[in-house]
Amino acid sequence: MNWDALLGQEPAKRYLRSVLATGRRAHAYLFKGPVGVGKRTAAGIFAQALLCEQPAGKDTACGRCKACRCFLAGTHPDLIRLRKFTEAGGEVGAHEPVIRLETVQYVCEQLHRSPMMARQRVALVPEAQRLCRGQAEPANAFLKTLEEPPPAAAIILTSSQPEGLLETIVSRVQAVQFRRLAAGEVRAGLASLAAAKSETERDLAAALADGSLGQALELLTGDLRNWRAMVLSGLEKLDPREGLQFGLMLWTLADAEGKRLFQAKKESGASAADEELSPDDESGAGEGAAKTEAGWKRYVLQRLLEVCELCFRDGLVCAAVGGTLQPPQSALLLQPDQQHLAQTLARRFGDVGCQKALAAVREALLAVRLYVRGDVVGRALAGKLVEAMSTGA
Ligand SMILES: [Zn+2]
Repeated sequence: MNWDALLGQEPAKRYLRSVLATGRRAHAYLFKGPVGVGKRTAAGIFAQALLCEQPAGKDTACGRCKACRCFLAGTHPDLIRLRKFTEAGGEVGAHEPVIRLETVQYVCEQLHRSPMMARQRVALVPEAQRLCRGQAEPANAFLKTLEEPPPAAAIILTSSQPEGLLETIVSRVQAVQFRRLAAGEVRAGLASLAAAKSETERDLAAALADGSLGQALELLTGDLRNWRAMVLSGLEKLDPREGLQFGLMLWTLADAEGKRLFQAKKESGASAADEELSPDDESGAGEGAAKTEAGWKRYVLQRLLEVCELCFRDGLVCAAVGGTLQPPQSALLLQPDQQHLAQTLARRFGDVGCQKALAAVREALLAVRLYVRGDVVGRALAGKLVEAMSTGA
């Protein structure tokens, strides 16, 4: 893989290439930024370049040497991935909720060994905040290696929730910021990765994806399109007397779809390694969606709430300009195909109500991330939406 595989992200790309060209690398990096913008792609490109056999000073891997071939086949002996220490074995997928102590110990021990093929050993730790979730030992064990890193070790952490990392870890790694992609960049990415879809469909997905290529791919190919349609029609019909129905609908949908996805994944038997290499990988289930059924339900609920968030943001824009949008103003909408809904929400909620609704949706998203039960989240959200509607009316 070379840098062409990474869409946009010019400052990060420039910085990492200069690190490779000068050979002055830090012992550990943290690639941080939103989901689906290329952090793990960049980590792969960077890791391959570090392991490549060509002389130092090149800013990208050659793609032809034995090291590159091993890397691409996933068998390079100096590339350290998160191994699972359970009966099932295999790798810790990016979607598992925590990284356990045994895995951290394995990575640290591997980093202390001499390189077998390359000049250095490279460890990849995706969604690194999972080191710190509700458990002290893994983070502390990892911290020890960060404090006294073996000279031939390079550690690449990625995280879409860097606020979940311990300050002591963050202070010992070189941060590299990844940003939301411009809509044009997402469109360019879709043109090559989803060429089979029509341009209209791709443009809409790019507009809805909020700067995440992963999310856009999912909108085009995945279930998200259907889920979105259900949320939109639910909001369209939202009625103060039946507000609780909406919360129930969200949860029922998340429950059924989560169950279905869990079964489907189980049957397809996709291994963690496959997940790691699939292109839409970062889009993915986000951490926490693991292989568990509950994780998949949370995943679906999160996507549904994100759609609600976009709708109320558009409603707020619409309310702010007095409830109707003239042609140039509709460009302000995040969901340009849903102008009618934005106007409906603006009318029913008013701007104060839209603000309240938006806050309630964001609270619900946070609650899902904090593992609050989905039915509770749905009910609480519905109650607040009804309240918000009454302020607007
Ligand atoms: Zn090479």
